[in-house]
Amino acid sequence: MLYNNFKDKKLSKLGLGGMRFPVKDGQLDQDIAEKIIEKSMELGINYYDTAYSYQGGISELILSKTLAKYPRESYNFATKFPGHQIAETYYPAPIFENQLKKTKLEYFDFYLLHNIYENCYDVYMDPKWNILEYFLKQKEKGLIKHFGISTHARSDLFTTILKEFGEHIEFCQIELNYLDWTMQDAKYKCELLKEYNIPIWVMEPLKGAQLLKLNDKSKEIMAQKHPDWSPAEWAFRYLMNMSDVKMILSGMASVSIVEENCGIFSEEKPFDKEDNKILMTVAESLKDNVPCTKCGYCRRVCPQELNIPLLMEQYNEMRYAPSNTVAMLMESIPVEKRPEACLKCGMCKRECPQFIDIPTCLEDLTKKLSTIPSWAEICKQRLIDAKKMQG
Ligand code: SF4
Ligand code: SF4
Repeated sequence: MLYNNFKDKKLSKLGLGGMRFPVKDGQLDQDIAEKIIEKSMELGINYYDTAYSYQGGISELILSKTLAKYPRESYNFATKFPGHQIAETYYPAPIFENQLKKTKLEYFDFYLLHNIYENCYDVYMDPKWNILEYFLKQKEKGLIKHFGISTHARSDLFTTILKEFGEHIEFCQIELNYLDWTMQDAKYKCELLKEYNIPIWVMEPLKGAQLLKLNDKSKEIMAQKHPDWSPAEWAFRYLMNMSDVKMILSGMASVSIVEENCGIFSEEKPFDKEDNKILMTVAESLKDNVPCTKCGYCRRVCPQELNIPLLMEQYNEMRYAPSNTVAMLMESIPVEKRPEACLKCGMCKRECPQFIDIPTCLEDLTKKLSTIPSWAEICKQRLIDAKKMQG
């Protein structure tokens, strides 16, 4: 494992993100999650990122429980305050005290204000809640060793956020990958962070696995330059090449992904201007996709309890090429959870860090689905064809 120096610490360049532990029967699969964490420790990862809200609060619990088996100084535990979530109150003390109690940790190595963005900036700035002052106090007391923020804000607000918080934070977690370099204006954000001398923590390095699903043309140009690099390796090496990036977080959903990613992070390899150019070409080909990262923020507020990330994934499939498998999947979903059940209330749109116009996408998906035969019709036709072939 390669490491970066950060203040008094030596941090693994790859950190384990705790937002995407596998789920079984609707619950976080604790056995697999434990194995993922243990394998990460074995392969040298020493940074573990979670949040109060991740996976219904179970992510904080499983991470702290599993890491408790190791010496305290062998890992860094990072968690966050959920000021971005809709809540009745935003007093930080009860949440923070609950996090310490729940995780049985005496202190957090890293602590962040979670996703300061357009819809919650006022919450974070409201003197009634006293959020920033409270956490700076906890840092003084030694309960937080390093303090930072995460944000999906657009560039204008990002500039304001740095004016307000810049002098208090030691690191800033942003969405950064070769597609968002231009799509989420990450270039501007990186340059501004450099001016403030604030190191970059990366989230969504693979854009919620979107950078793994490339078209044949993209795969071909990438393979001509580096035949042995996977799409993940390309995306990671792009970031590893940036000197201001000190932490790359990846939500690894299986032991084999941990092994594969740790393999990439075990050695430096040159990444030249031509590599960069290739990725910018690949990025152009991806810009037609709806940029859903499957973060699930929209699901929490949908009154119809639609599985929006799944519907966005199917929407991308349909935009790429109308497919029978989309029809099949849709028909396996109860009628009241299909895209046409959307009430167009817009709640989800306000929560989406990717600024996706979800209701419009769902309306378009409904329209597109109406143009292809239903799965029952497809099956019936296949039966007729099979009988014809048998004579
Ligand atoms: S607009 Fe549709 S998908 Fe979005 S929250 Fe409302 S009902 Fe759910
Ligand atoms: S639609 Fe937006 S909020 Fe919902 S899962 Fe995708 S990126 Fe997240």
